[in-house]
Amino acid sequence: MHELSLANGMLKTVINAAQNQNAKKIKSIKLEMGEILLVNPEQLIFCFDVISKGTIAEGAKIEITFLKPRIRCNSCDKEFNISSEKDFPLLSIVCKCGSKDVKIMTGREFNIKSIKIEES
Ligand SMILES: [Zn+2]
Repeated sequence: MHELSLANGMLKTVINAAQNQNAKKIKSIKLEMGEILLVNPEQLIFCFDVISKGTIAEGAKIEITFLKPRIRCNSCDKEFNISSEKDFPLLSIVCKCGSKDVKIMTGREFNIKSIKIEES
């Protein structure tokens, strides 16, 4: 399950960061997620809640900012945004010039932007 491995990596990262600052508890976590990462945010939060039980990240609030996908056309060099819902599946993305030779620049990010901690 994709969400579980992401949640696992996230938990390790935030606990490391928090311990470096002598935190006794992680209060909240800010995430940035690309809209075409194909991750279900509710499932991610659910997984995180489950695996963070008994750690300093237990009960941390997770805030997610979604990033719009950005596409670049290899034929005419133009960049454009897609609205993820409408343009799925990705294989069907066509540039205004008619080319299907496009590259996904952004939209698959998964970044932990910041965490809020309670210092000990
Ligand atoms: Zn084009």
